[in-house]
Amino acid sequence: EEMLSGKTAVVTGGASGNGRAISSLFAEEGADVVVADIREEPREGGEPTHERIEANTDANATFVECDVTDYEALKDAVAAADEFGGIDTMVNNAGVFRAEEFLEEGDDVFDMIMDINVRGTYYGSRAAANAMLDDGGGSIVNLSSVAGLEGSGEFISYCASKGAVRLMTYSLASLLGPEGVRVNAIHPGLIETSMTTEDVPIFGTDEEAGFVGQIPSGRGGTAEDVAKGALFLASDLSDYVNAESLVIDGGMTNS
Ligand code: NAD
Repeated sequence: EEMLSGKTAVVTGGASGNGRAISSLFAEEGADVVVADIREEPREGGEPTHERIEANTDANATFVECDVTDYEALKDAVAAADEFGGIDTMVNNAGVFRAEEFLEEGDDVFDMIMDINVRGTYYGSRAAANAMLDDGGGSIVNLSSVAGLEGSGEFISYCASKGAVRLMTYSLASLLGPEGVRVNAIHPGLIETSMTTEDVPIFGTDEEAGFVGQIPSGRGGTAEDVAKGALFLASDLSDYVNAESLVIDGGMTNS
């Protein structure tokens, strides 16, 4: 029995990394998928996510060019799900991660990080919620981070953005729960994607072993680890899970 048969998902940032793994696993579990991203080619290489899904599963998939800072583009992405029977699950996954030297002026990443991580989740949730309320409910899954649970002096803007996503999630659950829309957050730890090999290099550097040594599960996370949590939150297995934070970090944060 497929866990998402008959459902349709929209995944922002679905071209690469966690979003690509989420889109792929959802399709394997029977969901049709709208991949919404500013780029079509995966950052890590390989065929575009929607093409991979069409080639390897029975599910339908389509790509919509979408910058999550643009509300109209998000409405178009959500509307693209109508072709597959309408949106059931929205995964607000698009995000950016950068280190910063907080005390140095003039090199701000604040606006970019807030715009994509916070505004993007806000607009994505609004576009999805309006469609879901017209269509009997749904599930919204927001990508926060362990950086939305704990501060870090290297990542002031990123932590602020992911903390905002966490409380936006709980607030939206409060508003939308009575209308049949569940809203939950995933908090990944150290996951090997282009974000952690290119943007803030950890995997493949001298620091990798030190970081991984602090993870009880004894390894870095994969995008598939994150996708399995998203699958749970998108599926009916989590029917009564709402305004929750699912930490997927191999035990790093609490140990
Ligand atoms: P990634 O860079 O591999 O993929 C991010 C995708 O988002 C890319 O395809 C990119 O094109 C897209 N994107 C970026 N800006 C966009 C925009 N304005 N509009 C639409 N799409 C946009 O990164 P990832 O590691 O897969 O990250 C996905 C999510 O997971 C992010 O929200 C990130 O903060 C979160 N996360 C990642 C980690 C990790 O260790 N990799 C840890 C915690 C949380």
